Amino acid sequence: RTVYVNGEYLPESEASISIFDRGFLFADAVYEVTSVLDGKLIDFEGHAVRLKRSLDELDIVQPCSMDELLEIHRKLVELNGIDEGLVYLQVTRGSDGDRDFVFPAADTKPSLVLFTQNKPGLADSPAAQKGAKIISIDDIRWGRRDIKTVQLLYPSMGKMMAKKAGCDDAWLVEDGYVTEGTSNNAYFVKNGKIVTRPLSNDILHGITRKAVLRMAAEAQMEIEERLFTIDEAKEADEAFTTSASAFVMPVVEIDGVALGDGTPGPIAKRLREIYLDESRKAAI
Ligand code: PMP
Repeated sequence: RTVYVNGEYLPESEASISIFDRGFLFADAVYEVTSVLDGKLIDFEGHAVRLKRSLDELDIVQPCSMDELLEIHRKLVELNGIDEGLVYLQVTRGSDGDRDFVFPAADTKPSLVLFTQNKPGLADSPAAQKGAKIISIDDIRWGRRDIKTVQLLYPSMGKMMAKKAGCDDAWLVEDGYVTEGTSNNAYFVKNGKIVTRPLSNDILHGITRKAVLRMAAEAQMEIEERLFTIDEAKEADEAFTTSASAFVMPVVEIDGVALGDGTPGPIAKRLREIYLDESRKAAI
């Protein structure tokens, strides 16, 4: 694999970052994951805009222009021959060569790292045909989940709890209400109406969420953005999640309770199709 590190395209074995980098020592870093279909980037602009917002919220210097970012994405996709897969991008605050809780000088150069992940069959995914089984767990993350930081230890533990329970993923619950999935936004459907939590600092403002809600509205589907409990979701006709890496993923079971007939629901399936179709057309 050829990866990108601070201005250079290198074999992954030759790429390196300082052990004092604040991304490593403090999780002082933000990231984006952009999917690739037919060798093209899905919703690049959405990810670039959210990246800028995450950086601004944390006073991390923008490492380069949007145009340069696009060029790096495209070059890595080409160099690695990615037809279906992902581009991972991370920006850290960098370092001034020591460990200190206090941020280094404001003009410290941020680190920029990108790599690709080849995922043939991302769109035609067997997992999406089966649907996901999820468990619910407490949401004990920090209060700025709208910033896409690399503090992913708890979401990672959540995934492991799900695996241990024979499931695929976990939904996080705070003050009795579902926030989101470990790495996706959460929805249920009851009597034809799609329900999802409104945007706030409590959840990541998913790029896929925005696109899917727009497409659902265009398809005359009914949408309600409000808080919802895990019990409501368990009584739903169907449920699903959205993310750049799994698109629209049907959910077929919550805490051992099958939704509907226990197979992916019609609205989730239709939204997945519409999303893939329209995203392919708009990819750059
Ligand atoms: N919520 C969380 C916590 C996530 O980690 C992700 C994906 N990184 C999402 C939602 C979905 O966001 P997107 O559609 O932009 O991938």
